[in-house]
Amino acid sequence: MIPVDNHLHTYLCGHAVGEVGEYVEVAVRKGIREVGFCDHLPLYFLPPGRTIPGYAMDEKDLPRYVEMIERSAKWAPITVKLGIEADYVPGYEEKLAGLLSLHTFDYVTGSVHFIEGWGFDNPAEIAEYDSREIDLVYEQYFTLVQQAALTGLFDVMAHPDLIKKFNFRPARDLSSLYGETARAFKKAGVCVEVNTAGLRNPAREIYPSPELLEIFFKHGLPATLGSDAHSPDQVGAGLSEAMKLVKSVGYTEIATFSGRQRKFVKI
Ligand code: ZN
Ligand code: FE
Ligand code: FE
Ligand code: ZN
Repeated sequence: MIPVDNHLHTYLCGHAVGEVGEYVEVAVRKGIREVGFCDHLPLYFLPPGRTIPGYAMDEKDLPRYVEMIERSAKWAPITVKLGIEADYVPGYEEKLAGLLSLHTFDYVTGSVHFIEGWGFDNPAEIAEYDSREIDLVYEQYFTLVQQAALTGLFDVMAHPDLIKKFNFRPARDLSSLYGETARAFKKAGVCVEVNTAGLRNPAREIYPSPELLEIFFKHGLPATLGSDAHSPDQVGAGLSEAMKLVKSVGYTEIATFSGRQRKFVKI
């Protein structure tokens, strides 16, 4: 039984395909009890007039997105939640808080996709790894993830070790960074997302890795599940594997969200 898939995108972000109804249909077919849409929040941190084509929904589409998900929650045969995936960029916390306050989300998922403007998970910017020191990049990434959590703006931290996406692996031992990250998450009171997109990326590993998830579990951090589907066929993809992983490190329940409050489903 898959209790929830809390990370679905829609066509609105410009790089995913499919209508809400198509995503819900696949979830129903796969026996997933609850889904949460988590489309990319408009790029609030860019200077006015600048955009990254196909990266996130337009600002004018945010009310449409909210309405679209809320409407689908009324007719869907399963529970549908309204989430949002928000990038974290230091220095823009107030703008982000302002944007988030416009709507009543069930949960806000925080993501780090940029290191000082470098879109490190964007295939178009992959060449940049060659001119960077990987150990340092990992350190910068996890520092940003900790800062993001500590803003208090997020309920869930998405794909916690996304930096491994293209399988550039550090030489250094990561345990101190992992411990620091878990302590920051604990202090911030956030939930961690077990995100299966990593299985489809060159890393070929769920985000977070088993080692990192084990540390999160030992620090008492709750976990939720997400496929990060960018097309309807990806709904629930890898989630049976994710369930095995969470159980193997000791989790007995999975978090779901309503009106930014956490609830737990026994697994
Ligand atoms: Zn996306
Ligand atoms: Fe993401
Ligand atoms: Fe996503
Ligand atoms: Zn994502």
